[in-house]
Amino acid sequence: MPAVSAFSSPRHDWQRAEVEALFALPFPVLLQQAGEVHRAHFDPAEVQVSTLLSVKTGGCPEDCAYCPQAQRYHTGVDATKLMDTASVVEKAKQAKAAGASRFCMGAAWRSPKDRDIPKVAEMIREVKALGLETCATLGMLSGEQATALKAAGLDYYNHNLDTAPEFYGEIIQTREFQDRLDTLGHVRDAGMKTCCGGIVGMGESRAQRAGLLQILANLPAHPDSVPINRLVQVEGTPLHGTAELDPFEFVRTIAVARIMMPKSMVRLSAGRETMSDELQALCFLAGANSIFYGEKLLTTGNPDTERDLALFARLGLRPMQVVETANTFHADIVDAALAGGDGGDGPPCTRAA
Ligand code: SF4
Repeated sequence: MPAVSAFSSPRHDWQRAEVEALFALPFPVLLQQAGEVHRAHFDPAEVQVSTLLSVKTGGCPEDCAYCPQAQRYHTGVDATKLMDTASVVEKAKQAKAAGASRFCMGAAWRSPKDRDIPKVAEMIREVKALGLETCATLGMLSGEQATALKAAGLDYYNHNLDTAPEFYGEIIQTREFQDRLDTLGHVRDAGMKTCCGGIVGMGESRAQRAGLLQILANLPAHPDSVPINRLVQVEGTPLHGTAELDPFEFVRTIAVARIMMPKSMVRLSAGRETMSDELQALCFLAGANSIFYGEKLLTTGNPDTERDLALFARLGLRPMQVVETANTFHADIVDAALAGGDGGDGPPCTRAA
């Protein structure tokens, strides 16, 4: 096993064979390695907490095979219009009261129209004024749109790669893998932080899971947040009925992501609702240090807030809270958030997840 020092500095030159070798380590060895990397960069008792709100649900023209918001699949998700800013701000206040430090706004668009940008910018400004970090997931962005969202105060933009390039065509055909890389480039160029991960359990091979992590880690900058979603199988989507991923393989994916992107927030995202407390605890041991918090993720379920707080208390974990400094926001630990609150409903997307 390589010395932990070999993994302590971020790298951008990962080879596929190296990543597959990490996946193949004996489970205890992999978790030990990931745990050491985690502790080298973070307090392992801290978990960053984000809340996700669907500000525009359903009716999406894309064909992502996992997604209940694609209008071409019959999943019972009703399309809605873009929420008004006051309603979004009310949800953000509820999320903050429940301990969230970051508020993500998701819209089921292929890409926003230019006329949508001022409305979204107003939401961003008002949510940020509450002292929350802001994140959005709106689909593909042009360079000009990214610049406008940054100017409104957007801290993070979520845009997932979803899966390895060689498996991508099995999942999405209405946009290219390169389109995703281009949007991430616009986000970086605008000076925003990136939130970018993928989904596992879609029928991909271990080598393809390794390929997803290889691409993520070899981006020009590691994503600040790396959501690792476990497929939520929704009836009516093409992936409904896919063979379940071995839970230990999911934990391995978290651990390898932690090792390869040592300074990133590795987030447990969609699929957490169906994970046992014990499986989530294994994920925290493997280096996960961020969760989505609230009742739903876009259109899929998420463990309710009380269960999350109880799990944090049982494991001695503490949520982080954003503290505002002169011009920036940073995460700081507080334990007051364990006092509770009802969290409101969080909710938007498997894709943001
Ligand atoms: S994942 Fe996003 S882009 Fe794909 S169908 Fe769902 S809402 Fe549309």
